[in-house]
Amino acid sequence: MSAIPSTLADRKVDTVKLLINGEFVESNATDWRDIVNPATQEVLARVPFATKAEVDAAIRSAHAAFATWKNTPIGARMRIMLKYQALVREHMPRIAKTLTAEQGKTLPDAEGDIFRGLEVVEHACSIGTLQLGEFAENVAGSVDTYTLRQPIGVCAGITPFNFPAMIPLWMFPMAIVCGNTFVLKPSEQDPLSTMQLVELAIEAGVPKGVLNVVHGGKEVVDGLCTHELVKAISFVGSTAVGTHVYNLGSQHGKRVQSMMGAKNHAVVLPDANREQTLNALVGAGFGAAGQRCMATSVVVLVGSSKEWLPELVAKAKTLKVNAGHEAGTDIGPVVSRAAKERILSLIEAGVKEGATLALDGRGVGVPGYEAGNFIGPTVFSDVAVEMDVYKTEIFGPVLCVMTVPTLDDAIALVNSNPMGNGVGLFTQSGAAARKFQSEIDVGQVGINIPIPVPVPFFSFTGSRGSKLGDLGPYGKQVVQFYTQTKTVTARWFDDATVSDGVNTTISLR
Ligand code: NAD
Repeated sequence: MSAIPSTLADRKVDTVKLLINGEFVESNATDWRDIVNPATQEVLARVPFATKAEVDAAIRSAHAAFATWKNTPIGARMRIMLKYQALVREHMPRIAKTLTAEQGKTLPDAEGDIFRGLEVVEHACSIGTLQLGEFAENVAGSVDTYTLRQPIGVCAGITPFNFPAMIPLWMFPMAIVCGNTFVLKPSEQDPLSTMQLVELAIEAGVPKGVLNVVHGGKEVVDGLCTHELVKAISFVGSTAVGTHVYNLGSQHGKRVQSMMGAKNHAVVLPDANREQTLNALVGAGFGAAGQRCMATSVVVLVGSSKEWLPELVAKAKTLKVNAGHEAGTDIGPVVSRAAKERILSLIEAGVKEGATLALDGRGVGVPGYEAGNFIGPTVFSDVAVEMDVYKTEIFGPVLCVMTVPTLDDAIALVNSNPMGNGVGLFTQSGAAARKFQSEIDVGQVGINIPIPVPVPFFSFTGSRGSKLGDLGPYGKQVVQFYTQTKTVTARWFDDATVSDGVNTTISLR
């Protein structure tokens, strides 16, 4: 067994700090959780569940900092992001090691996790042209109308375990560069890499109080959703929690965006490029041990493509299950023992419900890591819509395969699933692709692309059951989310001595 990455040992991290008013402080919490390496069960650090007073202090520090930060010139805010993107890039290998140790994903995938977040930081460097208002000259005699895109105040972000780098980076850089201040609540399962990114933000020059971090679970999240000084909340995580956050935050007058669970289908037409399609399905189904909100979890084989199943299974069998930091690993452990138990019980349910276990990843052995939370690639065929394995987001390395006669049937199947995060179509027919993109009711569509997560010039646009709130993370939509529009209608007189007299009618232009 290789030693765990040296960065953690070097940092001697035993407790995770809060960040309040520019200081990394030890929590007074009485409730602490272990952060556990999912490949070894080694305790890497302990994370506090912050007290009410600490959450309040973080929010108040953000509120106080807003008074000056909102008036900091946009170029100055942007230059901090320019420095930040350079620092994140420089420290990517170190952060990736931490991320793999606490989350389990492979090292190259951990670098990908950071890189997709880094792209958002790069985009934040263009805020000068993103946060522009509109101007209409001479809407009435000597009257001009224009809009200001102003920051809204204290924003909060609540993030899931599966992308501890990318998702925090979806949130605080864009919120801050728009002139807001921020309180981040990372996943309590793997906050170490998130904290390394936060440390770099401070090093890049984010002033004290502009970015704060509190750790914890439901109580801390509820504290953020109900605090009078919090104006907006960005949530990414499961559907149950996201719905709760959306409802609670909205009831307390906050702007909320909730990106939630998924069940992503990949529809395969018989004319698709067979080799490329099968490679894409296996990569997107089992990468990150299936713990991606945009993972392919259901393959829909249309018509004669049902004959591709044995080849799909054969390819899945070749994937190497091992600790994420070992070279050549395809699938690392799932994040926790509890997650493993849950996934195994769903596989058991699938067997009981009558799905065919075409590949059984239970009981996979990983020499040197016998205690790890490993599940090998698992494929169910003959899956039906009423089965739990179809209805539930498994969030593990389990692929459900279904067959339908026609493209219309496939579209109807996908559209009747409540989730709308992502979908893929594999074909060489432009006409089929065009019909599919038009008729499919899912917010992010891939054509011969299995995980269609948009680059940050666009926004993340999951839909239906996968999202609550109008505006998605990053891109132009998040600039709208993190700003409020003020419309100014102004009249300037050339000659201050001229008077129109009193007019009591609404203006008739
Ligand atoms: P989760 O919902 O359990 O946790 C998300 C956050 O909510 C964490 O910070 C957690 O501490 C907090 N939380 C947990 N229980 C809570 C409660 N009862 N009340 C208030 N807050 C609570 O999600 P997870 O397991 O960390 O992440 C996996 C889920 O996230 C999957 O469903 C996945 O699809 C989803 N996800 C969605 C997207 C997307 O963009 N749509 C992206 C990544 C992950």
